[in-house]
Amino acid sequence: MVVLGVGLRASSKRSSTVVALDQDSSILSMETFGEDDELAQFAQDRKPGLISIGAPLGLPLGLCCLESTCSCDFATPQRKGRLSELELSRMGISCFFTNKGSIIRSLIYRGIALRERLQGLGFQVVESYPHATKMILFGDKVPPKNSAASLAFLKERLSPLIAGLDNHMDSNGCDAVLNAYTGLLHTQDGTDVLGDEQEGILVLPKLPR
Ligand SMILES: [Zn+2]
Repeated sequence: MVVLGVGLRASSKRSSTVVALDQDSSILSMETFGEDDELAQFAQDRKPGLISIGAPLGLPLGLCCLESTCSCDFATPQRKGRLSELELSRMGISCFFTNKGSIIRSLIYRGIALRERLQGLGFQVVESYPHATKMILFGDKVPPKNSAASLAFLKERLSPLIAGLDNHMDSNGCDAVLNAYTGLLHTQDGTDVLGDEQEGILVLPKLPR
């Protein structure tokens, strides 16, 4: 079975990355895409058993959108995000909360639309979060995101886990690999799940017990 991992950007004008990983954790292909159509086509060609996308794929219960002009509100008062995000934050893992003040609103809308579209095509889709995957797999010594040190660190840590890594991949490519790997773990009973089904669950590598 093939698992796809997607490093999704908010805009189709900047390239996103999709990685296909086989059950032995070898990269079958790594490609960039712009429009959602390209990803949908890629999925139909590859027929993955699971697609793991590193972006919020749902809204908090009660919200129908993230527009301040709409009267929709959190079903649970005083909430500032989805349950999965509150749980992450309790674990000491920082994340963006999905609410009307979100600075990643366009990414959230894109993620939700893609999930609906891919599910409509019959694919199983899960939400992953590359920063959480990194923290759990590699500890909290991960250098700050977007630093040159971060990319080198990740390539070094990922290489024993994943065959066929492209040494020239950028941070979005790294995220796609982390998301694919998290998806692969999910197919092998190697993940924990946070959050609520209705808001969208988040899959993480199993915590050491
Ligand atoms: Zn609304």
